[in-house]
Amino acid sequence: MATIRFQALQELFKRQALEVNYPSIKASDYFAINVFNRSKMKKHLSKEAYISVIKSIEVGTGIDRKIANQVATGMKEWAISRGATHYTHWFHPLTDATAEKHDAFFDISSNGETFESFDGKLLAQQEPDASSFPSGGIRNTFEARGYTAWDPSSPAFIVGNTLCIPTIFISYTGEALDYKTPLLRALFELDKAAVDVCQYFDKNITKVISTLGVEQEYFLIDNALYQARPDLSLTNRTLMGHTSAKDQQLDDHYFGPIKDRVASYMKDLEIESHKLGIPLKTRHNEVAPNQYECAPIFEETNLAVDHNQLLMDIMQKVAIRHNFRALLHEKPFKGINGSGKHNNWSMATDTGVNLLAPGKSPKKNLQFLTFLVNTIKAVHDNPDVIRASIMSSGNQHRLGANEAPPSIISVFIGEKLTKMLNEIANAVAEGHMSPDNKTAIKLNIGKIPEILLDNTDRNRTSPFAFTGNRFEFRAVGSSENCGSPMIVLNTAVANQLKLFKKDVDSLIEQGIKKDEAILQILRKYIIESEKVRFEGNGYSKDWEKEAEKRGLSNIKEAIKAYKSYIDEETIKLFSENNVLSKRELEARYEVRIEKYTKKIQIESRVLGDLAVNHIIPTAINYQTNLINNVKGLKELFEEQEFNQIAGERLNLIKTISKHITSIKTKVNEMTEERKIANKIENATEKAEVYEKKVKPYLDSIRYCIDKLELIVDDQIWPLPKYRELLFN
Ligand code: ADP
Ligand code: MG
Repeated sequence: MATIRFQALQELFKRQALEVNYPSIKASDYFAINVFNRSKMKKHLSKEAYISVIKSIEVGTGIDRKIANQVATGMKEWAISRGATHYTHWFHPLTDATAEKHDAFFDISSNGETFESFDGKLLAQQEPDASSFPSGGIRNTFEARGYTAWDPSSPAFIVGNTLCIPTIFISYTGEALDYKTPLLRALFELDKAAVDVCQYFDKNITKVISTLGVEQEYFLIDNALYQARPDLSLTNRTLMGHTSAKDQQLDDHYFGPIKDRVASYMKDLEIESHKLGIPLKTRHNEVAPNQYECAPIFEETNLAVDHNQLLMDIMQKVAIRHNFRALLHEKPFKGINGSGKHNNWSMATDTGVNLLAPGKSPKKNLQFLTFLVNTIKAVHDNPDVIRASIMSSGNQHRLGANEAPPSIISVFIGEKLTKMLNEIANAVAEGHMSPDNKTAIKLNIGKIPEILLDNTDRNRTSPFAFTGNRFEFRAVGSSENCGSPMIVLNTAVANQLKLFKKDVDSLIEQGIKKDEAILQILRKYIIESEKVRFEGNGYSKDWEKEAEKRGLSNIKEAIKAYKSYIDEETIKLFSENNVLSKRELEARYEVRIEKYTKKIQIESRVLGDLAVNHIIPTAINYQTNLINNVKGLKELFEEQEFNQIAGERLNLIKTISKHITSIKTKVNEMTEERKIANKIENATEKAEVYEKKVKPYLDSIRYCIDKLELIVDDQIWPLPKYRELLFN
């Protein structure tokens, strides 16, 4: 009988590439057709309601009940005209997924009349029975109430027949239970702090937004093969599988021609995304076989985060339509590249200026330098919580492995900009500057635009790289909610800008001129944060040694990394900036470590099951064949000849036995370690046992299975192999 693996392959071969013929209309004709954006609001809202919502988006003012009612009515009318029958508050609980509970517009009045209803109260707030979302102890199940509240700054949209209203999710007592609440708080603080600093340069600037463009990497695997791999379908990664003889050695996949079947998926994905207002622009093959990337045009950070969450949903839905599965896991396959989510980040003013792009005048360039240096300083001062924000059981395979930015947080700015920062630091003198100092500085600052023009030396190994007009935070994992790193980065930079303003003002009070004061503080920061700047190969062993010498932290252990969520410095940073309270941080820490524990627990169970009921029986079957073969040879041949012929086969039988025994023993030991861990009450200790005692078995058991895969008859191997998963 054919194995599941062969059935899956047969199914795959039968299938033709699903060619979807789309009408040749321009993306701009249907872009955001399913989004209640400004133009739709203008059409469906009264002038009063429209102005009120725009003000709320731009200045953050509240919306009163009367206006909320008007907005709800307009939104309902528009949604029903687009075929919506239900509505939902759409939010990001701390699970890395989005959550939604649909309610119908449909209602029945007391006299039995049916109608469609939706009012301001339903738009503004909901009380989902949310006791099953992780809350890190903030919300016990007996007081299961949590609230979702409308976020007018991210427009409502329609998926299928449901109107989705982006919301925050908070506990009954007001604590954040999601990513959006603290993100909005962080963005608010960044706005205030950055505007204050911008006032040194341009009095017209009254608002600064954070901008984000997320490059999303993923794998596409045929659905039939995926279904035949229980590890993939239950844990999103392969827990076993020998590397394919050919994978990414030839560098022939990156930017290579896109296969028809994949191109048709990408086209469909783009259309669905565009309809929802997600401005996808770029698509290409990535380094590993069957690995791809898509990227949108950058947007305001809160919106970009919502769009990335929505995009991940759409990617998976559309994949199924094309008989694919989209794998968003950070490391679905051992031995080839994993996937990340590069967070391209900058800040922009309401005067249309990108604060991380140099300008034409010396004043603009000093402003650019100010934001550049303050960002570097913010990263320098907060590496541990930045790392904690991107740590996960999946991303742990990338961080510190030799193909992704390491767990050392460093900043790359390019050789020329490095030279310039150092020259500026040298030229600035403390106290009042001499004319010579000033000339040197002017010359240096004047050179910035030219430098950036040919700043093409791109370092792909840095976790946090300056790329000419933005920073690219590359260490973020492909499956994660980028709200998490964005909360930390924006808070750290907001805090840093506040410190900068204080430092500069105090020099001005001492009688030093504004520009000189700014330069002196920048000089101080350039020197203080020098050690975080690194231009070399971030994947190399030498860098680990060098970083240690510099005193940079390098934490590879997940639980240890998470602890910085609750250290004193983090609590101070987040509470002083009103982003997260101590209690909220503790809750987040708890949710993180519990999630880590559960992920390892599931992987360990799945591997144990597969090892025992897929791999061992298969190996025994093959071994039995060999034994019968040897027995037959013995009957046929004289002893001397038999020994010559059967020697290798006998060794093979022994090797198979060795691996089978080893797998059995290790699975038992792993199960015992799990039992010990499961009895531990303290969540941190439990997670540590999972990380230190259970997790290593995932590798050692896999090692034996992968050896068996090379030995056992291909015809009876039950699971699709790497070459099949990656080259179909
Ligand atoms: P690359 O592969 O060269 O890094 P991509 O085109 O794949 O570049 O992705 C770059 C991303 O950076 C895009 O999403 C782009 O919109 C975004 N980006 C460009 N400028 C900014 C900016 N000022 N702020 C935030 N993101 C930006
Ligand atoms: Mg990039």
